[in-house]
Amino acid sequence: MSDQFLAGRSALVTGGTSGIGLGIAEALAAAGASVVINGLGSPEQIEEAQAKVRQAGAPSVAFAGADLRDVSAIESMMAEHSGIDLLINSAGVQFTAAFADMPAERWDALIAINLSAAFHTMRLALPGMAERGFGRVVNIASVHGLVASVQKAPYVASKFGLVGLSKVAALEYAAAGSRESGGITVNCVCPGWVETPLIEPQIQARAAQVGGSRDEGVRELVREKQPSQRMSSTADIAALCLFLCRREAHNLTGAALPVDGGWTSQ
Ligand code: NAD
Repeated sequence: MSDQFLAGRSALVTGGTSGIGLGIAEALAAAGASVVINGLGSPEQIEEAQAKVRQAGAPSVAFAGADLRDVSAIESMMAEHSGIDLLINSAGVQFTAAFADMPAERWDALIAINLSAAFHTMRLALPGMAERGFGRVVNIASVHGLVASVQKAPYVASKFGLVGLSKVAALEYAAAGSRESGGITVNCVCPGWVETPLIEPQIQARAAQVGGSRDEGVRELVREKQPSQRMSSTADIAALCLFLCRREAHNLTGAALPVDGGWTSQ
C-alpha cells in the first residue's frame, strides 16, 4: 500500500472521467483521498472511471455530472461538495483552426470550459479551505500557458489566462493556514504532449500529413517541439500533482510548472 498521506482528505477532480484527470484521481485515491470525479462521457465510461478510482483505493468515490459550460451547474456541484480539501481542475477541450477561421462558438465554449470553469470552482472552494487551514488547488494548464503555437488561439488564451488566474488566487490565499496545517496553495502544471484522447485528432492529422501510421504521427508531433522526443504518461503528470498535495509543499504556490521535455526551455 502506498503512503496514505491523504487519508481523511476529499478531492474533486474535473475532467476526472478521462486522460490526465482520471490518472490524477487514481493517484489521489491511492494516497487515501475520497474522490469526486466530474466530467462528461457515456454511462459506461463514467462507470469504468469510477471503478478505476475505487480500485486504486479511494475510501469513497462519487460522480458529479455538471457540464462546466453551465455556471449554475458548477454552483450546484460545489454546494454539494462544499468540504473538499483538494481541487484539481483538469477538464479541458482543444480545437485547432487558423485565427480568422476559428468559429466564434468554439471560442466561447473553450474559454468557458478551460478557463471560466476553473475560476468558478476556485472561487467556491477556496474560502472553505482557508477556514480549515488546508487546501490544494492544482490547475492543469499546458505549455500553451507559457508559449504559443499557431492555430490554437482560444486554447492558448485560456491556458495563459489559467496561469494568471492561479497566481492571483495563490497570492490572495498565501497567508491562510500555517506550516503545520499545510496552508493553501494554488499551482498550475503545464504539460507538453501527454498521450490522451484530447490529442488523438492531432496525432491522426499529423499521421495523414506524413502518410504514415499512428506511431509516425506521434513521432512527428513530439519531434517538432518536445526535445525529449517522448510523450508523458498520465501517471507522470499525476505524480507531480500528488507532490503538490503534500503538507511539505505548503510554500510551493503560484507556480506554473512545465512537464514538457524541454519544450519551453528553447
Ligand atoms: P481528455 O480529453 O482525456 O479529458 C478531458 C476531460 O474534460 C474529460 O473528462 C471530459 O469529459 C472533460 N470535459 C470536457 N468538456 C467538459 C464539460 N463541458 N464539462 C465537464 N467536463 C468536460 O484530455 P486530457 O488530455 O486528459 O486533458 C486534461 C487537461 O490537460 C486539459 O485541460 C488539457 O488542456 C490539458 N493538457 C493536455 C495535454 C495533452 O497532451 N493531452 C497537454 C497539455 C495540457
